[in-house]
Amino acid sequence: MMKSAALRIREQHSRLSALDSTCGDGDHGSTMLRIVDRLERIFPSGAPADFQTYLQQAGWQVLSSDGGASSSLLGAFVLGMAAALAEDVSYLDCRQLATAFESGLNAVRRHTKAQLGDKTMMDALIPAVEAFLKAAQGGKEVMDALGDAARAANAGAEATENLTARYGRARFLGEKTRGHQDPGAASIALLFDGFYRGLANSEGEAGHG
Ligand code: ADP
Ligand code: MG
Repeated sequence: MMKSAALRIREQHSRLSALDSTCGDGDHGSTMLRIVDRLERIFPSGAPADFQTYLQQAGWQVLSSDGGASSSLLGAFVLGMAAALAEDVSYLDCRQLATAFESGLNAVRRHTKAQLGDKTMMDALIPAVEAFLKAAQGGKEVMDALGDAARAANAGAEATENLTARYGRARFLGEKTRGHQDPGAASIALLFDGFYRGLANSEGEAGHG
């Protein structure tokens, strides 16, 4: 999942920086490249997972990858996920992952007052986590829940195109940010799409997807 999310960011980092040139300072693509490089190194493929430890390490790595807004908020998200897990958990079912995502979102909410409609990454993150929670509560498996979350994140990111920025550097550009997606929201959509594709591909390979 992490590999595939990293791939999605690498495919589109120029677009992310171009969006940030219109809405901020143009560094979002390179910041996201650093973030996914670090995430990928923490989650080695094939190794037995200890999710709490991995997510804690990953959260600090993301936080220290850059001084910008997105690394602080994404770092808080990952650390918030770790905080919801018990020690030595090497398997997460859909409900446990939902609880972790919810805890991550709550951690981000302690760092920003941005709400839905303020044209930030929250416009993709809130719907993604809510869609995942709803799917988990409805008894769906992780892959289907991630599919729902990815679609919700993408719809949320696309909807930022018609919004005016009120938070972050983009707030100084106000109305000029209309007509362009928020770069942070676009990244969240790519990450969830990557998680979904990564899991779907690995389950396909394992012959039970
Ligand atoms: P910086 O703005 O420090 O250069 P990035 O360019 O990496 O950081 O990330 C910009 C993205 O971070 C924005 O598109 C937005 O989604 C998100 N962001 C910035 N400030 C805030 C905030 N106060 N609340 C929520 N999200 C924010
Ligand atoms: Mg920037």
